[in-house]
Amino acid sequence: RAKEEGRNAVEFFADGISTPTSERLSLELALRRALERSELRLHYQPVVAAADGRLLAAEALLRWTHPELGEVSPGRFIPLAEESGLILPIGNRVLDMLCAQMAAWRAEGRPLVPMAANISTLQFRRSDFVSIVAETLARHAIPASLLILEVTESMVMRDVERAAYQLGELKALGVSIAIDDFGTGYSSLAYLKRFPIDKLKVDQSFVREINEGPEDRAIVAAIVGLGHNLGLELVAEGVETAAMAATLRELGCDQFQGWHYGRAEPAGVFAQRLVGRETVTAG
Ligand code: C2E
Ligand code: MG
Ligand code: MG
Ligand code: MG
Repeated sequence: RAKEEGRNAVEFFADGISTPTSERLSLELALRRALERSELRLHYQPVVAAADGRLLAAEALLRWTHPELGEVSPGRFIPLAEESGLILPIGNRVLDMLCAQMAAWRAEGRPLVPMAANISTLQFRRSDFVSIVAETLARHAIPASLLILEVTESMVMRDVERAAYQLGELKALGVSIAIDDFGTGYSSLAYLKRFPIDKLKVDQSFVREINEGPEDRAIVAAIVGLGHNLGLELVAEGVETAAMAATLRELGCDQFQGWHYGRAEPAGVFAQRLVGRETVTAG
């Protein structure tokens, strides 16, 4: 605590520029309330095959509608939730909402696709994380093969031994693992082979200017080469235009996610994408 207070004393001024401490506190209180009052919902963004654009999966992205402030972006409230520890109950809620949604779609007779949830450091570090995932899947009778967990490089690099063990336990359950925002963390590439992962999601920052010069193309080509050699699927995030998709396809990316194919949509809208699809459903 003492160490934290010392740091906060310095941060107080820096924070004052963007978000004053009092505002952060009230937002944190509001977030606590939001959890109780069901102001949190999931939206779903399609992930498609690079080859032909067909739907392969989706990512669940959390949305918060504050009664007075309106939409608060995850970029703002997720860091707050992480600092306050609220990310633990919120993260559990996300897993629960996601599995409940899949169960509801299955009850409607819709073919399901694997769905991804973002996991935060605090959740991943908990020793009960694997059992929470298993329990949530079981409670909704969702096969583990329909769940993808997105972790980040920094999360798994912090304690490689533990991360490798934890990921192994998750793989044993049958869930898939994706490394999100790949290329932005400090990544020790040599460690990648130690982790039982399935997908690398190339960070948006390399995709944004993919057609603006050779640098990002070189970086993406290197990531794709590395990933494919390790037997991983490569997903490009933030694909906004057909021109970006064309370059990324040429570079060998397997899957695309981005506004060119669809934004994160409320469940009712996304559900229409699950109509009349011939697909593998393990449920
Ligand atoms: P992320 O997991 O890397 O998610 C991708 C973000 O990129 C999403 O932002 C998505 O809406 C946005 N995006 C998708 N396609 C495009 C595109 O073509 N162009 C651009 N410019 N952006 C695109 P969003 O929903 O604001 O989420 C931001 C971040 O918040 C996520 O990044 C993730 O790190 C975090 N987050 C969201 N939901 C959750 C959650 O349930 N739990 C945790 N722990 N984190 C979450
Ligand atoms: Mg993600
Ligand atoms: Mg990402
Ligand atoms: Mg991100």
